[in-house]
Formats: sequence, structure tokens, C-alpha cells
Amino acid sequence: MATDPILIVGGGLGGLTTALALSRWGLTARVLEGAPEFGAIGYGIQFGPNVFHVFDRLGLMDRVLAVSDSPAAVLMWDALDGKELVRIPTGASFRARFKYPYIIVHRIDLHNVLLDACRRSDAIELVADAMVTGFQDRGDGVAVTTADGRTFFGPALVAADGIRSLFRQKLIGDSERPVGYVALRTIVPMADVKADVPRDSVVLWGGPGCHIVHYPLRHGTEFNIVAVFRTSTYAEKGEAASYRAELEQTYANLHPAMRALIGMMDFRWRRSVGDRDPVRHWHHGRIVLLGDAAHAPLQSLAQGAGMAIEDGLCLSELIHAANDDFPTAFRRFETLRLTRTARVQLESRAIWDWLLHAEGVASDVRNATVANWDEAHLFDCLSWLYDGVPSPTKFKPMNG
Ligand SMILES: Cc1cc2nc3c(=O)[nH]c(=O)nc-3n(C[C@H](O)[C@H](O)[C@H](O)COP(=O)(O)OP(=O)(O)OC[C@H]3O[C@@H](n4cnc5c(N)ncnc54)[C@H](O)[C@@H]3O)c2cc1C
Repeated sequence: MATDPILIVGGGLGGLTTALALSRWGLTARVLEGAPEFGAIGYGIQFGPNVFHVFDRLGLMDRVLAVSDSPAAVLMWDALDGKELVRIPTGASFRARFKYPYIIVHRIDLHNVLLDACRRSDAIELVADAMVTGFQDRGDGVAVTTADGRTFFGPALVAADGIRSLFRQKLIGDSERPVGYVALRTIVPMADVKADVPRDSVVLWGGPGCHIVHYPLRHGTEFNIVAVFRTSTYAEKGEAASYRAELEQTYANLHPAMRALIGMMDFRWRRSVGDRDPVRHWHHGRIVLLGDAAHAPLQSLAQGAGMAIEDGLCLSELIHAANDDFPTAFRRFETLRLTRTARVQLESRAIWDWLLHAEGVASDVRNATVANWDEAHLFDCLSWLYDGVPSPTKFKPMNG
């Protein structure tokens, strides 16, 4: 029993990073993934330089950089008149300030980098098609059962099972709160994108009750679009035709370039956007929540996965330092990660309301305020996030 691997439920970016980080400390992990195969859903994802503090220590920098791109800038444009509101240069000056780059990457490609590294490790067992439906903390370890009747036992359990976490529901009992918005996302070949659309930057269009984000992927061969808007039908399921009609109506008065982007969307994927309040405790005995299960933010800062990845490194180091005293490691983990992750949640919520979706006088206030934001100011505002976090313990860095 003492040699049983630590159980990780969920093989998303948070779960796989945790398994890898544990293995670097000589600890074993068994990752239980509910889907028939390990793999991500295919769309783009952005990361700030803070994740590279983790990838660098895991020895994955070069592999992550090989599958990602670094945009020239992150731009915010007014969805009504198309004027540029904010420009965050993410080239040389950004790299000089934050040491690491800002990247955009296809989620599948990043997932595969982590999966390949897990598969190369003898310390990690990946178990697909293992949907966990029940669990029991037995005091000396945790037992889980899966939908097909299998049982797994481990000395402790990391619940990295995402925003609709079974473990969160059972241990904390709250649920995700719909904010009345839906998100649609699509990827199209770059060849289909009009010539006047920027191909080297992340562009965020902010407007009354809606925003669009787009950026290139896979070294400029693909183009990722996410459209988010407020709707009374957020909880309803519909057909592609009704989604299209609704979106065209929402964006009817907005800038023609935004409407052209809507015309390129694939309408099969539509999700209600949910938010969670920060909570102080994420662990119970030998079970701890990690990533979205513990602190899912709105997407405004593009940091949900970044926080899950940071969690994985931090938690592994604390487990190693606590020398099998899992409740102590988990308590320290909560304490160390709380204010940073809660700040991401709360700032994401604030940005959602006043920066992304401002309308009427509020949008005048926003535009007047951001007009004074130059590079130095923006870099200062982002430093708490992008500078990353120091190692939580006095232990030497891991071997890569
Ligand atoms: C439209 C959109 C855009 C986003 N853009 C960004 C971005 O640019 N940058 C960023 O950092 N974040 C972004 N995010 C947030 C990011 O997707 C999440 O924060 C991140 O995926 C959380 O990682 P995780 O590992 O905690 O959970 P998940 O990625 O949700 O992984 C959970 C895993 O657990 C598995 N699972 C669930 N239940 C069980 C169970 N009972 N048994 C076994 N397995 C189970 C699931 O199948 C899944 O593989 C975005 C989110 C959305 C919706």
C-alpha cells in the first residue's frame, strides 16, 4: 500500500502537469481520465510568461516553444468603431521584462507535449476510460470507483477534474454559476481569413455584452476565433441555424469586421459560461482539489489553465517536502495558492464587466481610462501575474 501511486483524477493540463512534476521528485502517480482517450478538445489557448516558470523547471521549454507561436502584440479594439483601445507589445520588450514569452498554441499540441513526457516516465501510469463516480477517504489512503466498476487505491488523491468537478461538488457542495453569457469557438484555415485581419497578433474586440478574441495558430496556418455574448438563452440547447441567427442579431450593430468574423464561425459548439466564487479551503483529509476544480476563473485574463499548471508544480513540491504527510502538504498548498488564484478569479470578473463588455457611459469611461495606458504602465499592471511565483520550499530545483 505504501508503494501505491498518488491518484490524480483528470488528465487535463492540470492533472498531467501534476503527474510530471511529482515524477520529477521521484514520486509515482496514476492518472485516471474519464474520456475514452487522453487528449484535448481542439482549439487555441493563450499563456502568459508565468507558465514558463513551470515548463522550464520540468525541462519542457523547448518542446512547448516548438509547437507554439509568440504574437507581436495583444490588442484590444472597440467593437463599435474598431478603434484600438489597448496595445500590449509582446515582442522583444515584453520578453526582456518578463524573461519568458507570451504564447498562443493549439491545445492539442500542448497536451501532446505533456502526454509524451508522461509516457516517457516509468513513474506515471495513464488510465483512460476511467470515469470516477465515487470515492472514499479511508484515513490511510483514498479509494475510488469508476463507472465500469473498477476500484483504485492511492495514498492521496488530487482532483483535477475540471470546472464541473465531482470532488468539488461532494467536498464543498457549491456549483458553477452561469453568468448569462455563452461562448462559441472555431478554427478555420488561415487561407480563408480576409487580408485586412491581423495575422500576427491576439485581437480582442470588446463591446456591449459581447466580445470576440482571435489569433493565429500552428505557425500561421490556422486561425482561432472565440465569440462570447450575453443571451437569455444561455441555458438552452439548439441547432446550428438558431445559434447563427442569434449571433448575427447580437452583432448586427457592431463593426463590420466583427460581423465578418461571425460569418466564419462553426456553430456546432456553444457553451454557457460559468463562474465560481473563490473559496478558502480546497482539501479534505487526503483529497485536494487543483486547477479549475479549486478556482476556475472567467476567461478574461486567459489564466485558468495557467493557474492549473502552476498548481501542479507547487503541489508536487509541497508533497515531496511533507514526506508522506499529505494533509499538511495540502493545507500549505491552499495557503500558498489562495490569494494568487483568487486574485485571478476576482480580476477576471472585474475585467469581464468593465473592460470587455462595457456599454453606454461605462464604455466612455473605459475608453478614457485605457487611453492613458502605455507599455510601462501595462507591464507594471501585469507583473504580479506574469512574473510567476517563486519555489514554495527551500528545496533545490528538480533535474529536468
Ligand atoms: C472558451 C475558453 C477559453 C479559454 N482560454 C484560456 C486561455 O487562453 N488560457 C488559459 O490559461 N485558460 C483558458 N481557459 C480556461 C482553461 O480551459 C481551464 O482553466 C483549464 O482547462 C483547466 O484545466 P484543468 O486541468 O483544471 O481542467 P480540465 O482542462 O477541464 O480537465 C479536466 C479533466 O478531467 C476529466 N474528468 C472530469 N471529470 C472526471 C471524472 N469524474 N473522472 C475522471 N476524469 C474526469 C475531463 O475529461 C478532463 O480531461 C479557457 C476556457 C474557455 C471555456
